Amino acid sequence: MADIRIENLRKEFGSFVAVQDSSFTVHDGEFLALLGPSGCGKTTTLRMIAGLELPSSGKIYLDGEDVTFNRASARDIAFVFQLFALYPHMNVRRNIGFPLLSQGMAKAEIRQRVEETARLLQIDHILNRSVSGLAGGDRQRVALGRAIVRRPKCFLMDEPLGTLDAEFREIMVHELRELHNRIHATTVYVTHDQHEAMAMADKIAVMNHGVIEQFGTPQEIYAKPATMYVADFIGSPPMNFMRFTSGLKSGDRSILLDGVDVTVPEIHQDMVESELALGVRPEHIRFSDASALRGAVYGSEYLGTNQVVAVETPGGLIKARVPANRSFQIGERVGLEFNPAKLALFDCTSGRAVP
Ligand code: ATP
Repeated sequence: MADIRIENLRKEFGSFVAVQDSSFTVHDGEFLALLGPSGCGKTTTLRMIAGLELPSSGKIYLDGEDVTFNRASARDIAFVFQLFALYPHMNVRRNIGFPLLSQGMAKAEIRQRVEETARLLQIDHILNRSVSGLAGGDRQRVALGRAIVRRPKCFLMDEPLGTLDAEFREIMVHELRELHNRIHATTVYVTHDQHEAMAMADKIAVMNHGVIEQFGTPQEIYAKPATMYVADFIGSPPMNFMRFTSGLKSGDRSILLDGVDVTVPEIHQDMVESELALGVRPEHIRFSDASALRGAVYGSEYLGTNQVVAVETPGGLIKARVPANRSFQIGERVGLEFNPAKLALFDCTSGRAVP
């Protein structure tokens, strides 16, 4: 298996910059999710790593070797696309074994490898079935089998679950992670779905307009978003932002929000007269009659174990995730209390977290 390193990787299509000077390392055996909305440059980044697209500038290293200008076929990478084109006239065994056959491997070895792969994916009981009659999940497993049977250095996957319905998707997310735990293949996985990325990846690169806004573990990205964009993209409902004009000096610990004193994280630079936003995740808000920061309930969404209550405040709509054991009337006045240890501050001009 292998490390993948990209350095200042850039792709221009005419005057349009699809990927801007991106750098990261995926360590041997790690699972990286490239996460972001449609058009942010995920697929282009993946295609450059695969050798299907030539970068405008920058470098790609596979296991320390510069492969930037190597052909795709010389990279020992398996690319798993969104739409799995299985060979419909072949059975499962021949579909999985096909890449080995085209490499010229001996029949006995192919047989052994295919059976090993099928056991790993728990499809050894359908090896002689035709692929055309298979259900969605089994088809995905056959396609995965075809990708892993070669034992490539790494896997690149472009929204491989994109065509599945929600129920199957959840099963396959679990299976893909299980498979990864067993074979520890270095993987780069493209998705626009934050739940998939959070559930599967060791590291996530959050992309926006061709730029990697943050690279980190799912926990880091959730707890310490580097930008308002990341804070907004991850989490459902996303982080709440309350904008204010700052009078904060280095070392200050409180701000006035709607005329109410609120304790905030200590900042380490003067930010007087900057437009800032206080960020708080819905689960770090609780309702307290004692709080002077008040608003009117706008609506609520019951989620079984808890509920999300939207509250209209002078600073905007705030969503709080609170226990479901109490119901709220529309218009009811509530006091909001934030967990001070979990608050974040952002500079609204740059969109970046305040250091
Ligand atoms: P999606 O999930 O929709 O594929 P993505 O994040 O993977 O989104 P890319 O496919 O990498 O995005 O595309 C990034 C941008 O580059 C898009 O605006 C796209 O239109 C543009 N782009 C991609 N390939 C080409 C091309 N061959 N020629 C011109 N523009 C392209």
